[in-house]
Amino acid sequence: MKIAVFSTHQYDQDFFNEFNPGHEITYFVLPLNEQTVALTQGFNAICIFVNDTVNAAILQKLHDNGVRLIVLRCAGFNNVDIKTATALGMPVLRVPAYSPEAVAEHALALILTLNRKTHKAYNRVREGNFSLEKLMGFNLHNRKVAVIGTGNIGKAFCHILKGFGCHVSAYDIYPDAGLQAQGIVYGTLEETLADADIISLHCPLMDSTRHMINAQTLALFKKGAMLINTSRGGLINTVDVIESLKNCHLGYLGLDVYEQEANLFFNDYSEDVIQDELITRLISFPNVLITSHQGFFTREAMEQIATITFANIDAFVKG
Ligand code: NAD
Repeated sequence: MKIAVFSTHQYDQDFFNEFNPGHEITYFVLPLNEQTVALTQGFNAICIFVNDTVNAAILQKLHDNGVRLIVLRCAGFNNVDIKTATALGMPVLRVPAYSPEAVAEHALALILTLNRKTHKAYNRVREGNFSLEKLMGFNLHNRKVAVIGTGNIGKAFCHILKGFGCHVSAYDIYPDAGLQAQGIVYGTLEETLADADIISLHCPLMDSTRHMINAQTLALFKKGAMLINTSRGGLINTVDVIESLKNCHLGYLGLDVYEQEANLFFNDYSEDVIQDELITRLISFPNVLITSHQGFFTREAMEQIATITFANIDAFVKG
């Protein structure tokens, strides 16, 4: 297969070169978009990531260029117009579960860091300040944690939380019988949000989940609750979340993902000024912690991504 890999990160090339079973790979250190799609002429497949937008127009151009396969090296697929890809007969392959633990552990890291304020202590100690002023946290043990979406990552997160002695409740359109047997209680979205000290989002971004956290649902949160999003930025209405932080209703916010992330992810701050402003406003709150979509980024996960991506391509080749 002749594969065009769009990646702005050297680590993708390193892992792909290590695991490539012999495909002809060309790396473009660019995002895939309306301008760069012309580069795909003569390739059989493209390999892309979460922030490469593949809309109907781009799919048509890919098809015209001879591309027959879209390979995502990530779990989420909200950036691809699946309907159009299907109509054009172009399979879209993804890596559904390369390392759910990597993202689940990052969600936990956000909770523990926000709660115990280790990021603040780290900065203080480097300045010679060992004061405990404003560093008091709370025990995670016995806290009520709501897991929204109990697929691969949500399930791994539930297991971690049980180990910490948390009371775990969940919401999913398909409750997991195995988790229920382990004492995880499912409720409606409203019940689950209202009862929790910490809410962590692990469902995919789709029309039905976009802005599921908004002014109405935030009003259900306990005052002072913590919200964690390591899933997709669009699950949250950022403007409403900022309002809730301003009103001191939402107590803590930990984000690994944000709305309109593509521009930030590719270090292009020029396109969406409003969203850049929102990020700036979010960062200004002392009870907000933002990381740079790094939940997936462990050695084990990267090895799995490369291995599964090539297994997907081989399965396509074999029909
Ligand atoms: P998954 O498909 O295994 O699980 C998703 C779960 O969400 C399923 O159980 C599904 O039934 C549930 N769901 C679907 N619609 C729902 C709704 N309307 N309300 C509640 N639940 C709903 O996916 P996963 O592997 O667990 O990944 C979850 C998400 O995490 C991905 O979609 C992706 O966006 C995100 N992710 C982030 C990173 C990162 O680096 N931060 C890495 C990988 C994945």
